[in-house]
This record gives sequence, C-alpha cells and structure tokens, in this order.
Amino acid sequence: MKKHNYSAGPCILPQEVFQKASQAVLDFNNTGLSILEISHRSKEFVAVMEEVRALALELLGLQGKGYQALFLQGGASMEFLRIPYNLMKVNGKASYLDTGTWASGAIKEAKAFGETIVTASSKPENYNHIPKDYTIAADSDYFHCTSNNTIFGTQMKMFPETSVPVVCDMSSDIFSRTIDFSKFDLIYAGAQKNMGPAGTTLIVVKESILNHTGRAIPNILNYQQHIDKESMYNTPPVFSIYTSLLTLQWLKNLGGISAIEKVNEAKAALLYGEIDRNPLFKGTAATEDRSIMNATFLLENDTHKELFDKLWKEAGISGLNGHRSVGGYRASMYNALPLESVQVLVDAMKELERIA
Ligand SMILES: *Cc1c(COP(=O)(O)O)cnc(C)c1O
Repeated sequence: MKKHNYSAGPCILPQEVFQKASQAVLDFNNTGLSILEISHRSKEFVAVMEEVRALALELLGLQGKGYQALFLQGGASMEFLRIPYNLMKVNGKASYLDTGTWASGAIKEAKAFGETIVTASSKPENYNHIPKDYTIAADSDYFHCTSNNTIFGTQMKMFPETSVPVVCDMSSDIFSRTIDFSKFDLIYAGAQKNMGPAGTTLIVVKESILNHTGRAIPNILNYQQHIDKESMYNTPPVFSIYTSLLTLQWLKNLGGISAIEKVNEAKAALLYGEIDRNPLFKGTAATEDRSIMNATFLLENDTHKELFDKLWKEAGISGLNGHRSVGGYRASMYNALPLESVQVLVDAMKELERIA
C-alpha cells in the first residue's frame, strides 16, 4: 500500500511522475534507449534540458526578465560555496539572515570565504521564529536568506526591500506559493524537497549580477560558465533533471503555482487547526511564521508518544518523526502530498485524544 509520505526530503512526488519516470527508465520517449543510458548530447535529452530550464522560469514568472535557470549538481550545499565565489567581491562582504540549520550552514561557507555579516539571528530561541527588525548593510555585495526553514518549521512571509542583491535558498518551498520572484537576484533549491529526486539543484540567477567580483572563478564553480554551456558544462544528472521536468509539467497542468498554493494553504490550515484545537498537541514555531510546507509540533505529554506513534503508523503514515534539533513531529506537506493524507493524520490526532 502506498504510504502517506511526510518525509522532509527526499520527498513525495506525484504518482504520475513516478510512473512516467519508471517508463523512461525502460524506454525513453520511444527511442529504444533508457533515460539512464541515452547521451546527454542526444537531441532528445537536449530538448529535456531546454524545456525544463524554460518551464522553471515560466512557472516563476521570470521568462524574458534577464534570468537564467541552471540544473547543477552538488545539492543546495554546493551553492553555499558557489554563491560567495560568484557574488562576493575581492575584499567585499555579504550579509546573511540566520534562521536555522541551513542558513547557518550557508553562513559557515561564506565566512570561510570572506567578510560575512550575520544581519540577525533567531538562534538563541532555537530558531522558533523569523527575525523581523533588521537593517541590511548597504555596502553588502548581497543579502542571503532562507525562505523556508525545513527543520524548524518557519517560513518568511515577507522579504526585505533593499538595494542590495537578494539571494534566497528556497530548497523547501520553491513552486509552493506565489511570491514576486523578480525581487530576487538569485534563487536556488535542491530538487529533492519539492521538485524531484536528489541529484540536481535549480539555480535561477539574474545574469547582470554575475562577473563583478574581480576574481578568477574555477569553471565548475562559475555560474557564467554553466550558463554559456547551457547547463551542460559537464554531464548533467539526466534522471534527476528529467524527473524534475515531469514534476514541473504536472504542476503546470494543475494551473501552476497559484493553483497549488490554494491546496497547500488548505492542507496547512487543516493541520495547524488541529494542532491548535487538540489539547494533546502544541506547535513549536511562532504562529505568524508557521511554514505551510513543514509543520513542527510536540505532544503536550510525552507519555502519549507510544500510542500516538502506533496510531499514525497503523494509518499508513511515514516520515513524521521530528528532526533531532526540535524533537516531536514534523509533517512535511510538499506539493505532491494530497489533502486526503493530511486528513488521515488529523484523524489519528483526534483518535489519540479520544482514547488517551
Ligand atoms: C535540505 C536543505 C538544504 C541542503 O540540501 P542538499 O541538497 O542536501 O545540499 C539546504 N537548504 C534547505 C532550506 C534545505 O531544506
């Protein structure tokens, strides 16, 4: 039986994507070849790469606005390094908002690279909220933030207005809600949270912000090099990219980001409504900063843990355990998780209240 998959990543993908990807492993587009063996220079795969790059920009509303989409390797973690390499000037500096484990991972890489200002941090409160009142140093080469904090269940609802280029790690909420994406100069997201299998990272970059650092950048780390080679500087992870294309096609057919946003809001309202109503549970994130992708919550009384774990596991739910740095539970409700799966979880929470 297919599980209700709440895993934070790798994540659930649409069932039709799994089916089409499986078919492509056996015979890709009637070529008589598997997607796993076909040349990345074949016209069939080149068409995949062209379509996925264009579709990512189209869904974000960024086509024809000076942006380029790349599908590279190394995960979002690689971008923690690639970003300062490409955007921090020689003797320059960058500003970072510290909202969680991933943000601080990005800060660590930047610090190893050059002067890095932590503009604000919610670390002393175990990242249970997003800092709001802060000023970005105007002489920063860029400002880096994390739109959704996968581990702590918080999400930025507003982004700063600044003249400094804005870079955003959107790994765990890209394509989930409508934002004016043109306010960002660089967006990146590991595929495995909301788009595809692990193995590729989407980078959307405004080309005009590149080539101002005054330093030589090794080719593999150089965004311009990847743009010039149409995201095929080296052999791309073909399966991961093809599967990401299938997910983006699925999203487009549904009506794009604005359509999935309504579903995501309904799922979040259903679950947070139960967390707030049910006296046995409590949320961990500040209410106004709650993520619609990753909901983190605790039992009021840990003696109910064994029974609750049994209830949700018997209901066919998988991947609900919280991250060790928060404890309790984390329900990751990415785009492909149906509303019905959230109802199954809410029913298990109600059942606990009834029998505990
Ligand atoms: C998972 C995650 C990362 C790390 O992604 P990798 O692809 O494993 O390097 C970075 N940022 C955020 C917000 C994440 O959720």
